Amino acid sequence: MKTFILFGPPGAGKGTHAGAITQKYNLRHISTGELLRAEIAAGTKLGIEAKKLMDAGSLVPDSVVEGMIESAYDTVKGVEGFLLDGFPRTIRQAQDLDAILQKRGAKVDGVISLMISDDTIRKRISGRALAEGRADDADPEVIENRIRTYHSQTEPLIGYYKAQGKYHEIDLNEGSIEVNRAKVLSLVAGLG
Ligand code: AMP
Repeated sequence: MKTFILFGPPGAGKGTHAGAITQKYNLRHISTGELLRAEIAAGTKLGIEAKKLMDAGSLVPDSVVEGMIESAYDTVKGVEGFLLDGFPRTIRQAQDLDAILQKRGAKVDGVISLMISDDTIRKRISGRALAEGRADDADPEVIENRIRTYHSQTEPLIGYYKAQGKYHEIDLNEGSIEVNRAKVLSLVAGLG
């Protein structure tokens, strides 16, 4: 089982490009954000707790998202591997992921980083607010908190994966979705 991580700040296009990668390489897309939004829509206890943090642009506890990841690894069959999107988001989650994978005889095979500037984050998120109707996309203060959270808690993962030779970055500030999709697919093709 292969594990690839789709990394990048909010609004970089992880959700937009995930489908092309998973189809081409028969991977299961696991977006912790989407799984959490499904819990909210279903009105579960976990969803109700997570909603407060998500609406503020803060992270939910590591144990919550890690439970979701472990359960996917233990239940999903018939794929070549996983494309993790929005996870890990902290060094702690990355270390825990290493342990989760090691227990199952797997490892992180590569990190595909979609990089955009803070200004592009602001533009992209406010652009999709109407289309997707996400509460955390609509409020400029929440967007700023997500940008801060990204820089303080998630960006350190770049060094973590660079040190392991697994980090591959592409600049997606410019370009149409089609052009950027081709860039993403050609990067992934080189990962083997
Ligand atoms: P996303 O759809 O990836 O932008 O995630 C939306 C929100 O879900 C984030 O702002 C967090 O509140 C929460 N979330 C998603 N993934 C994680 C994670 N790996 N760790 C903690 N919180 C997360």
